[in-house]
Amino acid sequence: MSFRLFDAPLREPSQFVGFAGNTIDRQSENRADDSVDKALADPTTRLLLMNGGRLHLKLGTSGSLDPWFDAAGSEPFKPSFAGTVLLGFSEQGPVLATPVGIEAEHLPETVKAIDYRSVYMQGLIDDAAAGAMAQGAALLAWHASHRFCSKCGTQSQMRAGGYKRHCPNCGTEHFPRTDPVAIMLTATREKCLLGRGRHFAPGMYSALAGFIEPGETIEAAVRRETLEEAGIRLGRVVYHASQPWPFPYSLMIGCFGEPLNEDIQADLNELEDCRWFGRDEVRLMLAREHADNLVTPPKGAIAHHLIRAWVDSEY
Ligand SMILES: [Zn+2]
Repeated sequence: MSFRLFDAPLREPSQFVGFAGNTIDRQSENRADDSVDKALADPTTRLLLMNGGRLHLKLGTSGSLDPWFDAAGSEPFKPSFAGTVLLGFSEQGPVLATPVGIEAEHLPETVKAIDYRSVYMQGLIDDAAAGAMAQGAALLAWHASHRFCSKCGTQSQMRAGGYKRHCPNCGTEHFPRTDPVAIMLTATREKCLLGRGRHFAPGMYSALAGFIEPGETIEAAVRRETLEEAGIRLGRVVYHASQPWPFPYSLMIGCFGEPLNEDIQADLNELEDCRWFGRDEVRLMLAREHADNLVTPPKGAIAHHLIRAWVDSEY
């Protein structure tokens, strides 16, 4: 079997998904234990202030929203510098994500705390800042839920600018997790398989998805999830694009799957509905022109890109 390593696609589709615009130079080889303290002493350092799944945004006079604070400017928001993580370095200087403790009702009029999903869905900050937000949100969420050593139960300590936790009792080192999720569009030339989760916005249909399990390849997870959720067996599975997904710290891995049977047996515990959609119908959903107001996920979502790529493909 022979193939050309860098055959099509010529462009990486992942660069077009939401949260993919992160331009921070992580310098992962230079994460000393004092790197956050050093950054806090640097006047060029910029901070993202986060609290309970919300990002703090400064309201400009023209209605603009600015997510960047300096260390002194963060003081009124009850920052936890001990819980701060170093995201890396931008052209302007170091970039930190800092958990803050101020309650929403005590925020000044000029600062809003907005949940990550709304910040991203409504495009409130530029792509680079949204990428930095995803990185910071995922790291801070991991620290918040991994305060104790999973081996001996002792409270662990943040190290390496937030990319490690060290247990002072048993010496075990713990590293931030990224949980892989397979998201797949099963499609023939004429039609694709979309489902509706019970928590979806009204009228929305999307690609099926599920966590990849230990000991499983991406392709095996795609086949298993599609069979479990829709009763559809898949032949070929190909990778398309990935997306960082900070809810709380996943990586969405987008694939196309080739169906071997047509008859859907939807798992109604997981899905409210699941059916085949023709290309013309999906085009109307993408354009928000469907007669029954059915829609596909918004532009930043990797599901949107899978569906768009299929509609525009020669298959
Ligand atoms: Zn321990």
